[in-house]
Parts: sequence; structure tokens; C-alpha cells
Amino acid sequence: MGILDTGIKTIQNVAKVAFGLGSFSDLNALIEDKKLADGYAVVFLDTYFSNSILFDRLSEYEVVIVDTSVEPKTTTIDNIMSILRSKYDKAPNIIVGIGGGSTLDTAKACSNLFTNPGSASDYQGWDKVQNKGVFKVGVPTISGTGSEATRTCVMTNPKNGLKLGMNSDFTVFDHIILDPNLTETVPRDQYLYTGMDAYIHCMEALEGGYRNPVGDAYSRETLKLCREVFNSSDMLETSMREKLMVASYLGGCSIATSYVGVVHPFSAGLSVVLGTHHCEANCIVMNAMEEFYPKYYQEFHSMVKRQNVHLRKGIASNLTDEQYDELYNATIIHEKPLYNALGKKFKEILNKDRVIEIFKQM
Ligand code: NAD
Ligand code: ZN
Repeated sequence: MGILDTGIKTIQNVAKVAFGLGSFSDLNALIEDKKLADGYAVVFLDTYFSNSILFDRLSEYEVVIVDTSVEPKTTTIDNIMSILRSKYDKAPNIIVGIGGGSTLDTAKACSNLFTNPGSASDYQGWDKVQNKGVFKVGVPTISGTGSEATRTCVMTNPKNGLKLGMNSDFTVFDHIILDPNLTETVPRDQYLYTGMDAYIHCMEALEGGYRNPVGDAYSRETLKLCREVFNSSDMLETSMREKLMVASYLGGCSIATSYVGVVHPFSAGLSVVLGTHHCEANCIVMNAMEEFYPKYYQEFHSMVKRQNVHLRKGIASNLTDEQYDELYNATIIHEKPLYNALGKKFKEILNKDRVIEIFKQM
């Protein structure tokens, strides 16, 4: 099997997708429908909503507030599971994730762990999850990562620095609710960083060597929607938030059948070594991508300028030799996307000096 051959011949999509302004109002009925009389429901809620009406509406269930100041770690997931397991002697009937990629991924990982023994790091990799998880519902409150549609839940293992999810058909949500009202409060810079994750996933997929027509179609439509949003005069206007929510979902569908490219491995380096959050890290990496993606480099920067969002510069320009070693290792470990983007000579093209030079350009 070649390095890029995943062996996946069929695509697992989300079974039910509810879309529309106000569609969130159906969530309580959905929970009641699944929750048995002697059972319980767990709701993972982004910390931003911890004092909101949203919280009040769900407070009769077991609400786990997800701290998004740090992106998910295998150890955080294990801690949550240990608290829930000590409180209840059985699995919940339904799990709901309400938030961004961090919260949705936390919900997905916990759903799998309720029905599979061991800890989160045991399932980092491909198709290691053996049993279907607890029925799970995803409700994104910020658009871009596509976590609502993908078969993974990204977590960093602090013991070995591995940033990898539970790639499995069992990780895909059973039901998602896409309500653009929920993204109204996202701060401008975060809105652009996360939204650009959809743009970057899809441009990397379309520029890569491993392609298939289904993934390409999803990617092309995602890019089209992202362009409409980020070239508009107000990316946060209601119709633009609707478009970005669809772009995020379609971008997520696209990743299931394709690979990312050069941006994501460098971005993972920044996240693992400097703790930079995924979506901001991607945008910072774009500062140094002219050589690899000239057309997209220009377009990305013109959209960032149009939306008047500030991008940090120079975060990796003055580090220690040890940090540069770590950055190199955390980047080059992502062989599949680098192979997808640069072919089998990727290690020659991205030798250590070149990788460090690229980090310094950011
Ligand atoms: P996030 O979940 O980390 O949230 C980012 C910030 O936005 C947080 O401060 C959060 O509180 C805030 N926020 C969210 N919704 C808000 C709202 N409606 N109003 C105000 N603030 C709001 O952000 P993200 O960028 O969506 O997710 C990043 C994570 O997703 C990373 O861990 C990344 O690795 C992961 N990811 C997963 C996949 C996947 O397929 N599972 C794909 C790409 C990225
Ligand atoms: Zn991404």
C-alpha cells in the first residue's frame, strides 16, 4: 500500500444535518427523544457560553464546560472521562458538543471512550476504535475546522508531542445542527482564523497529488464560499455567516477523502512547540507560503487585508537551537501531507535548514 493510500473506499458522512437560523431550538426535543427515563445526557459546552441563556436551557443535563484556552490534550479527555465515570455507573444515552473545534472534538473523543476501554491516547491513529460510541450531536458555534463533519477528533498527547486524532468512522457525528445564529458573537480575528481553516484545508487538498473527484467537488465549493465571505464588505453579516457555516461543513466532508499539504505540518509545529492555536497558526504559516502556494498566498493576504484582521508576525524568528530542532521534528513527522504536497522527495526539499528558514520567515 502506498504512503497515501488510506484504504478507505467508502465515505462515512454525518447521518442527519439540520440547517437554518433558529434550528438550535430543536436540540432539547432531540435530547429528550434519545434520553431514556433512567438514563442521562452529557452536554459539552464551550466555556464562552457558561453564563448564557444557552447554558440555562441545558442545565437539567450533565453539562461539562470545555476550557478552550488550551486545545484538547489526551490527558484532558482522560480527566473528563474519569470524572464522568466516577459519577455514573453507565454510559449516557446521548452526548452533545456545542462550541468550536476544541469542544466538538472533546465530545467526539468522549463518545468513543464510553464504549471502548482504555485512555484517549490508545486510539490516536487510524481505525483503532473498535465499538460504536454513544449517539452524538454536534452544534458548531464558530465555522471553519469542519470538525462537525470529519472522522477525527484532534488531540495532543503531552507525553510524546503527538498531535493526532481518533481517525475512525465511529468518530463521525450522528446528527449535527448548523444554526448560523450561534456564530454571531465570535470575535472578528478568531472568526477569520477559524474560517480560513476551511479555505486552507481545501486549497491544500486541490494542490495535492492524492485526489479524487468527490473530494475535489467539496473543496471547490468550499473555496467558492470562502471567497464570497472573505471578499465581502462584512464577513460577519448574517448571510456571510450562513455561507461560512456551509463552507466549514463541506470542507470537513472534503478532508475525509483527501490530505492537507505543507501548511498543516508547519502549523502543527507551532502548536506543539509554541502552543499556538491551530487556526491562528495556519494563518501565521501562510506568511511564509509564497514559494509553495503562490496564487493562494496572494489571495489569502488580500482577503485578510480586506477584512482588516491583524496577523502576528515573527513568532518563530528568534528561538533557541533546541526549539528549532523541536519545530523541525514536529513538522517533518507529518509525512502523509508533505508527501501529498511535495512528492517522495519531500525530505530533501524540506531539509532542516530550509524548514528553519521558513519558520523564521513567518
Ligand atoms: P476553538 O473551539 O478552539 O474556539 C476558539 C475560540 O472561539 C475559543 O476562545 C472559544 O471560546 C471561542 N468561541 C467559539 N464559539 C464562539 C462564539 N459563538 N462566540 C464567541 N466566542 C466563541 O476553535 P476552533 O478554531 O473552531 O477549533 C480549533 C480546534 O479544532 C483545534 O484543536 C484543532 O486541532 C481542531 N480541528 C479539528 C478538526 C477535526 O476534523 N476534528 C479539523 C481542524 C481542526
Ligand atoms: Zn486545519
